[in-house]
Amino acid sequence: LYPISSLFPVFLITSYLMCNMAGKLLLPNEIFSLDISTKLHNDHYNIKSASIDYGNLIQEIPTSVFHPSSIDDIINLIKFSNNCSTPFTIAAKGRGHSVRGQAMARDGVVVEMTALSKNGSGIRVSWNPSLGYYADVGGEQLWIDVLHATLEHGLAPMSWTDYLYLTVGGTLSNGGISGQSFLYGPQISNVLELDVITGKGDLMTCSKHVNSELFYAVLGGLGQFGIITRARIILQKAPTRAKWVRLIYSDFATFTRDQEHLISTDGPNYVEGSLITRHSLLNNWRSSFYSPSHQSKINSLLRNKNGLLYTIEVIKYYDNNSVGTIDQEVELLLKELSYIPGHMFKKDVSFVDFLSRVKSTDDINSNSGGHEEFHPWLNLFVPKSRIMDFNAAVFLDMIRDDHNHTSSLILFYPLNRKRWDDRMSAVIPNEDIFYTLGLLHSSTSLTETETFDKLNNKILQFCEKAGIKIKQYLPHYKFKEDWMKHYGSKWNTFQERKRKFDPRMILSPGQRIFSNSD
Ligand code: FAD
Repeated sequence: LYPISSLFPVFLITSYLMCNMAGKLLLPNEIFSLDISTKLHNDHYNIKSASIDYGNLIQEIPTSVFHPSSIDDIINLIKFSNNCSTPFTIAAKGRGHSVRGQAMARDGVVVEMTALSKNGSGIRVSWNPSLGYYADVGGEQLWIDVLHATLEHGLAPMSWTDYLYLTVGGTLSNGGISGQSFLYGPQISNVLELDVITGKGDLMTCSKHVNSELFYAVLGGLGQFGIITRARIILQKAPTRAKWVRLIYSDFATFTRDQEHLISTDGPNYVEGSLITRHSLLNNWRSSFYSPSHQSKINSLLRNKNGLLYTIEVIKYYDNNSVGTIDQEVELLLKELSYIPGHMFKKDVSFVDFLSRVKSTDDINSNSGGHEEFHPWLNLFVPKSRIMDFNAAVFLDMIRDDHNHTSSLILFYPLNRKRWDDRMSAVIPNEDIFYTLGLLHSSTSLTETETFDKLNNKILQFCEKAGIKIKQYLPHYKFKEDWMKHYGSKWNTFQERKRKFDPRMILSPGQRIFSNSD
């Protein structure tokens, strides 16, 4: 092992050994004299698993896949790349649940973050008088494991995603949203401190007060500025149970007015919404909620209401102390709402069953009968002032009457801008309330995938033409101009931060924002 610091910056590494399929030389042969080289894998299994993601739409072949045993291993890899005459790109891969290749690195190195689960930061719960309860969690950890580890102390984070088999580093690089976000903000608003390895290979601790520029850059930063190895997450006392209610609407204005009413009070703990169309499955991969008799009741309503209904999902948590009052509290919460009479459906579940209601995709795939699935998802934030136009053109015209449309889950629910911090890299519309749209398409053929992509493009074109200032969530663009437009007034800051923390444009190339020819 050569101590890396003794090699650099005196020599720039210039001879390359590992090649790609076109014979282009990619990794310098000096890397093979370093200890970390034993952690680079380029066998078929590793390369294949780093070349695909949940979307199954894009394939980018890396030179090799890195399985770090420690944070120092990642530091050494990034420093090594920095000291090459032409650095190789490096992508942290969490669970690979991106849909458009965001965690891939063509001809570069993919860092399999979950390899750190044994020797990374783990999950540690603590308390101190100024911060209260918090958990220090490795960036490689899955949220489902954070849930179970914190519940052992009777505690839990406040803000979640719907699906918990995602890594902490992966969701904090985007935002991390769900029905709790209207109240507590996205997951990025619930972080006290981070450990980050920058694109220069420096391990830095950052927070609102220390190295704050890096802190704000990394949260929602699409992996551009550094690799998160630890996040300190705020915890609160965990409830034990949840009253889970779904309400059905046929009128969009009433549906959204009631959602906005709910998020303006601090009564509910969770508010989401979705569409029910002829093609959506009432009980889908995301959640099994309705009994067979409820399903047939909703289906007959759907036939009477021209094939489109809306549903609000509300949760109220409780514990032993509120068993006697919870039903009254829920009643009070729903009192002002104008759902279709007789179309309120209730469940009473444990807190953990509610949060882990969406099964792991491993289980889903094992039940899919071996069919290959594609997920051409589109996620948008739509400003509140334009949701009526959006409903008329997109939900009523494009989605309700689309007979090619098969199984898509369509989420639509409001979020409060005040729960987001504009200093962070994440971008949202410039209105106090905006709606999140999740068009979660699932297809089993390329033809169907193309149909979904055409629909996605049609929606984007409509918004552009109608002047609806949407922002993509989990964004995907091919051209720099589109990224500049996406970031708008934040673009200059985003670019400056990139130059500062990853000047050789090494990290997260799969986002296609910067390249080392920039
Ligand atoms: P990956 O796909 O592995 O990586 C995503 C990006 O983050 C890449 O650019 C990668 O380089 C970077 N990255 C990964 N780890 C790190 C790290 N430690 N440090 C820095 N950068 C890193 N999102 C929501 O907000 N709410 C939801 O309810 C929700 N539900 C979902 C359900 C499913 C079934 C799926 C497939 C996705 C869902 N998502 C949801 C989207 C999800 O949050 C993002 O795709 C997230 O990035 C996935 O995490 P991951 O660990 O798989 O990240």
